[in-house]
Amino acid sequence: MTSARATVILEQLGDGGRRRTSPRAAVIAAALRRTHPFTAQQLVRSLARSGIGRATVFRTLDLLVSEGVLARIHGIEHGSRCVRYTACGPTHHHHLMCRSCGRVEEIRASGLEERIDALARARGFEPLGHGIEIQGICSECRA
Ligand SMILES: [Zn+2]
Ligand SMILES: [Zn+2]
Ligand SMILES: [Zn+2]
Repeated sequence: MTSARATVILEQLGDGGRRRTSPRAAVIAAALRRTHPFTAQQLVRSLARSGIGRATVFRTLDLLVSEGVLARIHGIEHGSRCVRYTACGPTHHHHLMCRSCGRVEEIRASGLEERIDALARARGFEPLGHGIEIQGICSECRA
């Protein structure tokens, strides 16, 4: 089953129609089915059963990040640093990441956007985009 969002993305990538069953389509569908942040390794493991290789998984994840469909989140798992992926909403936002339970929340901060661009311009820099990840402890973990 391919979700509505996966279908839209596949069409944008020119993968619509009969190529919907391509390995790349399977990776996109599997990534968007995840409700919690995941590592590339977890996706590789779950897709290995369908005969989809590691390289396809990594290439597709890179593509989804560059399209803004997924974001890379820096986390800590079993005491070591890891990169996880999280599905992103269609409008610009930043991330709150809980260091205790690993949950990721989206936040929008309209006042901040102009300020960031102004800081860049003040240095003679034409801003094209930015990412902000706030790490901390979520309200549930603090309770
Ligand atoms: Zn996001
Ligand atoms: Zn938490
Ligand atoms: Zn922003």
